[in-house]
Amino acid sequence: MNRTFYSSLIMDLSRAGRRGYALDDHGFENDNSIPGHLLRDSAPILPQVDEPTLVRHYTNLSTNNFGVDTGFYPLGSCTMKYNPKINEEIASDRRIAALHPCQPAETVQGALRAYDRLQHLLSEIGGMTRFTLNPYAGAHGELTGLMIIHAYHDDHGDLKRTRVIVPDSAHGTNPASAAVAGYSIVEVKSRHDGTIDPEDLKSKLDDTIAAVMMTNPNTVGMFEKNIPEIARMAHEAGALMYYDGANLNPMLGVARPGDMGFDVMHINLHKTFSTPHGGGGPGAGPVGVRAGLEKYLPCPRVDFNTVSGMYEVVTDDKNSMGHISSWLGNYTVELKALAYILSLGGQGLAQAGPLAILNANYIKDSLSDLYLLPIEGRCKHEFVFDGLKDKSTGVTTLHVAKRLLDHGFHAPTIYFPLLFHESLMIEPTETESPETLDRFIAVMREIALEAANDPDKVKDAPLYTPVRHPDDTEAAVNPRLNYRSL
Ligand SMILES: *Cc1c(COP(=O)(O)O)cnc(C)c1O
Repeated sequence: MNRTFYSSLIMDLSRAGRRGYALDDHGFENDNSIPGHLLRDSAPILPQVDEPTLVRHYTNLSTNNFGVDTGFYPLGSCTMKYNPKINEEIASDRRIAALHPCQPAETVQGALRAYDRLQHLLSEIGGMTRFTLNPYAGAHGELTGLMIIHAYHDDHGDLKRTRVIVPDSAHGTNPASAAVAGYSIVEVKSRHDGTIDPEDLKSKLDDTIAAVMMTNPNTVGMFEKNIPEIARMAHEAGALMYYDGANLNPMLGVARPGDMGFDVMHINLHKTFSTPHGGGGPGAGPVGVRAGLEKYLPCPRVDFNTVSGMYEVVTDDKNSMGHISSWLGNYTVELKALAYILSLGGQGLAQAGPLAILNANYIKDSLSDLYLLPIEGRCKHEFVFDGLKDKSTGVTTLHVAKRLLDHGFHAPTIYFPLLFHESLMIEPTETESPETLDRFIAVMREIALEAANDPDKVKDAPLYTPVRHPDDTEAAVNPRLNYRSL
């Protein structure tokens, strides 16, 4: 599959006098009401192109991209599920797009009701009592959650809790968020089956621990069966349990973090609830809390006033951890997630998890004769290979990932988690057809055979992408960020 790279600049296509669109005369003369220093000296340089040139330019540019709308995207931990178009249609409705955050609450009752409805649905799904939808991303949700935990301990005069326990398999944002929230990190090691050793955790619990952060199923796709015991030990030591629910897919309709003993959690709407992410759009990382912690949630929040029968926006509360975002979060992302939840309904949502798990196990069992499976057994929504089984060829996980690009697939997550040297982490999600999964399996098998018979070809991959071997170090140290310097 040979693809070409479209690299024209709109300015290069510009020809003086060409017109694709003309603005109405603005009827605006400078009547000296604009201060002189704010007026520009010369007209802006704008591209002058006809309409077909313009349309072709942006359509061609869009083909440089890879996305879930163009191909299979098995990026482990990132849940690149299909984004239903009805979500976009609802979020781009003019009546939504034209709203202003500072409009009086009585003029935006419907929008506030949608916020409140999603807040209630997420509470139901997570087993929590209340959510804020304000954080802009998963990591932002983690920071919010840890600040809520901080506010809780401060409120109880418990000021010596300066440390947070994080497993070594955790997503990198967990220790980073804890550090940004002012905590130092205590690491617990995973056992050979990828789960946490409760005894090791117990030895690290004392009255300086503010929280234990966990992901379940963890990042190697294994379900931590000891959570109730871990939660009991953490609570006995006075710490709170934080649940990283960035990727809640396998839990939907099956189990709820709140029922397992977690106190605070976040969910990535842009993973679990199908809103576009990566290069495709802004995210949202709502945070939920169990009963007793609601008052620490950030402001603004949306309350329903039963007396007036109106929704109100509460911008200040002395117990609140404070503000974490400019207003009520990425509102259109919230609407897309609400549309997704309502269009699937309870039954549909409960099918997403089992299907995602089935797809992951299908790929795993179809490839484990050729790829090294370090953790045996039934996985949840994702799993990790430790590279190819045959290590004698010198073909690494990086080579396999690059060769997949030649076949039109996005690469899986590579070299994460850090538990193995050659991690290749695959998450197919529930939205892929059996035909797509079979095609992916066939290509992965073909690459394994090619690695045995013609290893240099695999190591030279990608052979057919528009850009072949970028120098990763040069790109990081000395990025060339505009077309002219390419
Ligand atoms: C994606 C992810 C995060 C971070 O989410 P962002 O929206 O990228 O900040 C945190 N934890 C886990 C387990 C994740 O998969």
